Amino acid sequence: PRLANQIAAGEVVERPASVVKELLENSLDAGARRIELDIEEGGVKLIRVRDDGAGIAEDDLPLALSRHATSKISVLEDLESVASLGFRGEALASISSVSRLCLSTSQEGSVSGWSARSEGRDMETVLAPVGHPRGTTVEVRDLFFNTPARRKFLRTEKTEFNHLEEVVKRQALSRYDVGFSLRHNGRAVHSLKPADSQLEQERRLAAVCGPAFMEQALFIDREAVGLRLWGWVALPSFSRSQADLQHFYVNGRYVRDRLVVHAVRQAYRDVLFHGRHPAFVLYLELAPAAVDVNVHPTKHEVRFRDGRTVHDFIFRTLHKVLADVRP
Ligand code: ADP
Ligand code: MG
Repeated sequence: PRLANQIAAGEVVERPASVVKELLENSLDAGARRIELDIEEGGVKLIRVRDDGAGIAEDDLPLALSRHATSKISVLEDLESVASLGFRGEALASISSVSRLCLSTSQEGSVSGWSARSEGRDMETVLAPVGHPRGTTVEVRDLFFNTPARRKFLRTEKTEFNHLEEVVKRQALSRYDVGFSLRHNGRAVHSLKPADSQLEQERRLAAVCGPAFMEQALFIDREAVGLRLWGWVALPSFSRSQADLQHFYVNGRYVRDRLVVHAVRQAYRDVLFHGRHPAFVLYLELAPAAVDVNVHPTKHEVRFRDGRTVHDFIFRTLHKVLADVRP
C-alpha cells in the first residue's frame, strides 16, 4: 500500500501548494468557519492547517490516513488506468507517504482529542490522546524528505510560497463566509475575517486582489436561461497592468476551463483591447446537473452539459457590460 500511496502522491502532491489545496478542501468539507495556515520555508519545512470544523472520531482516524481503495494499484503497469479514474479519498494517505504528517483532532463533546502520526513509507500510524479544541490540525513537515527526485523539482522558497498563497486566495474568494489567516515564517500575510455583506466582500477582494483592482472594478450580476454570472470586472485601464488576476468560479469551485477562458477573452477582445490581459473575479452559477466538476481532481476543468449556451451567456453578458463602460 505504501508504494501505491507514493504513486498516487505523484498525481496529487506535486508541490506544497497541492498539499495546501487538499488540506483546505478537507477543512471546508468539515464545515470549518475559520482556517489558520502556518507555513515555513515555502511549505517545504512546514505546512500547518488548523480548522474549527467537525473533527474526526477516534475510530475513524486510522481510516482517514489510509488509502480507501488500495486494491486499485498492485503493479506499476496499472498506473495509466488508475490515473484516468481520478483519485478520491486518498489525499491524506498520499501526503503522509511523502512527508512527516501529524493530525490532531477533536469532536464536539468528546472527552479527549486524538492525534495520529505517520511518517514516510515505512512508518506505522501511531494514535495518542491529545488536548485539542473542536476541529482538526494537520501538520505536514519535511515534504518529499524521502523522495529526493521529487524534491529536486521544487523551485525557490518564494516561488513555492507564491503558488501556495494563490491556492489560499482562490479559496478565500470562493468562501466569503469562512475566515482565513496565512502566516509565512512567522509573518502575517493574510488575515481575512468572514465577510457577509457586499461591503465586507469587497474589503476581502481588496485585500486579496489589491486595492487598485477594487477601486476600478465594476460589480455585475446578470441572470438568464438558468444561468447567473456575478462578480467584479476590472476596467480596461487597470487590466492593462495586471497579467494574472483571473478568477473564475463555477458553482463556487475555481476553474480554469478552456470554454470559459475563451468566452471571457473573446468578449474582452471584441470590445476593448486586442491581446491584453483582462482582470476579473467572476462567479457562474447553474444547476448542478448541468455541469460535471469532477472531470479531474487536480486540473481545473469542468464539463458543461450545454457548453454552447454557457459560452454564449458568458460572452454576451461580458460583452454588454464592457461595451457599456468602453472609454
Ligand atoms: P477525501 O477528502 O477525498 O475523503 P482525504 O484523504 O482528503 O480524502 O481525507 C480522508 C478523510 O479524513 C475525509 O474523508 C474526512 O473524513 C477526514 N478528514 C480529513 N481532513 C479533515 C478535517 N480537516 N476535518 C475533518 N475530517 C477530516
Ligand atoms: Mg480530501
